[in-house]
Amino acid sequence: MTARKTNLQDPIYHDDDAAREHLETLLWPQGPVCPRCGVMEDRITKLQGASTRPGVYKCKDCRKPFTVTVGTVMERSHVALHKWVLAAHFMAASKKGMSALQLQRMMGTNYETAWFLFHRLREAATETSSGPLGGKGKFVEADTTYVGGREKNKHANKRTPGNIGGKGKQIVHSLVERGGRVRSHHIANVTGATLRPIMVKHVSRKSTLMTDTAGGYYNLGKEFARHEMVDHGKGEYVRGDAYSNTVESVFAIFKRGVYGTFHHVSEAHLHRYLAEFDFRYNTRTALGVADVERAEELLRGAKGKRLMYRQPAEAAHA
Ligand SMILES: [Zn+2]
Repeated sequence: MTARKTNLQDPIYHDDDAAREHLETLLWPQGPVCPRCGVMEDRITKLQGASTRPGVYKCKDCRKPFTVTVGTVMERSHVALHKWVLAAHFMAASKKGMSALQLQRMMGTNYETAWFLFHRLREAATETSSGPLGGKGKFVEADTTYVGGREKNKHANKRTPGNIGGKGKQIVHSLVERGGRVRSHHIANVTGATLRPIMVKHVSRKSTLMTDTAGGYYNLGKEFARHEMVDHGKGEYVRGDAYSNTVESVFAIFKRGVYGTFHHVSEAHLHRYLAEFDFRYNTRTALGVADVERAEELLRGAKGKRLMYRQPAEAAHA
């Protein structure tokens, strides 16, 4: 398979009609679907005529008009569709993320629009339904890290050693299946009571669990096929197949984004940035996904994130 190359000359990034057709192809692979009824094909008519703006369809069942953006993160936005497509490309192609300021400069919008576009796209990046990570013979690494707070503006060598969990810092918990997907959460503390519901929901108990010696994992580990801990406090990082380098590398990329790209991530929005970084990791280049394809996947995720009455894909196949 040849990787598809990025071509920023493509009209989808500059022309509203081309962008809309691109979105229709991605969001309606089998043709237009009524976002309210889930009906398609002969129940849908395309509205045409001088007074009709392009891309409007009408459902014969509910008699309501709709466009491809209804029921997506783009609904009711006044931003031109080619700007959505371009912003999605920038988000998908920037390994450490892109700031709203950078997007503002690159697209010539105002800051509020750039900020809005990226936050809505983070919504699109949010994973909606997926089974647990791991399984028989598979390894899942779990770990926590601290981001934000007072340390954020300090140079690496000026940071206070051991000032983890300090005031103003937020706790991020990530689960990574080796060779597979990641799932990250913003959590309140690292107790077993907080970690258990996350682990039970997101990790198959048939997995081998890899953690450090944090107390919250100790009892939890017994619920998995095998549990190995490496003791970072004693300088132990790798013991045979017991290590947490995979999740450490996920944290490293996220931190480069938080400190290098965004400079500050508010507590209220942290989960959105985690969704963005998780999305890129889950569609990473190493899995054979090109930037163009990652951007398409991001736009597909726009569907069903807002004002949905019924999920059109399921309803259409019911
Ligand atoms: Zn309808």
